[in-house]
Amino acid sequence: MTGKIGEGKGLLIIHPPAAKACEAPGGPARLAGALKAGGVACRLWDANLEGQLALMASAAQAASGDSDTWTRRAARHLEANLAALRSPELYAHRDRYGRAVRDTNRLLWAAARPSGVRLNLADYEDGRLNPVRSADLLAAAAEPAANPFHAWFAERLPEILAEMPVSHVGLSINYLSQALTAFAMIGHIRREYPSLRIVLGGGLVTSWMRRPGWRDPFGSLADGMIDGPGEAPLLDLFGKGHAGGFDRPDFDGLPLAGYLAPGAVLPYSASSGCWWQRCSFCPELAEGTPYRPVPPGQAVEDLRALTAKLRPALIHLLDNALSPAI
Ligand code: SF4
Repeated sequence: MTGKIGEGKGLLIIHPPAAKACEAPGGPARLAGALKAGGVACRLWDANLEGQLALMASAAQAASGDSDTWTRRAARHLEANLAALRSPELYAHRDRYGRAVRDTNRLLWAAARPSGVRLNLADYEDGRLNPVRSADLLAAAAEPAANPFHAWFAERLPEILAEMPVSHVGLSINYLSQALTAFAMIGHIRREYPSLRIVLGGGLVTSWMRRPGWRDPFGSLADGMIDGPGEAPLLDLFGKGHAGGFDRPDFDGLPLAGYLAPGAVLPYSASSGCWWQRCSFCPELAEGTPYRPVPPGQAVEDLRALTAKLRPALIHLLDNALSPAI
């Protein structure tokens, strides 16, 4: 990990918008399991799901006689479409499913359009800023109010922070579609909560840091950046060690029944890295991520305990490649 951070009280882990909101984020849940097992207070916040729902609701509320017919229809049917997207029946009807998705997309589009952003359930495209340019990420942090999610997270964040005292905020950034809003959130937190320490991690951050010639351009914004698995470096922030094994993921605080899927999905990683490592185009090979499998017996025990507690409709194995043993 880069950066120097002091010891603190607790950690808020944010899954920032925008990513597909069809299941809970597996990485933050794994980190929460390790932190809690190590005695560190931790709160997970799926700002992606919440933020998208909030933008849809505000666009539906704003739809008036001046709006076009499609937007008005999408606004009228928002609650019914969300309920349908959360039930299995819709998925047996391709045309009804398509209409529900197009209508919810229409509201996201309407909500983000004034910010010059094309937003839908699957992507975030800014007409002005490019998430692959660090200068644009810094610009997003310098002007958080320009982000379409800003009005919502500026109001919601104090409520989240009031739930439990935290000294650190971690942003888990895995997709390019999350990067600009993640940096807008970082800029906002830096400005409004200067005493909070900010840590960045996740798959995208790991890819950045493992690029040849990497120089940290975000030093003024982030107190630390984590390359690879976050359990040990995060526990270290709080003066705790990590035993090195695999902790059971903890999904507390994530609304498993609220995602846009026909039933609750339980994401689970039975390994990190890839045992195959022979595909020349693959970042797993270029980044040299070691293969670390959860012992099969423990994976089975984890899944047994998590399914008993969370009653998912589906288990999503997040592994790059499942080992024959698993
Ligand atoms: S993660 Fe997938 S693409 Fe990459 S080396 Fe493994 S099998 Fe190939």
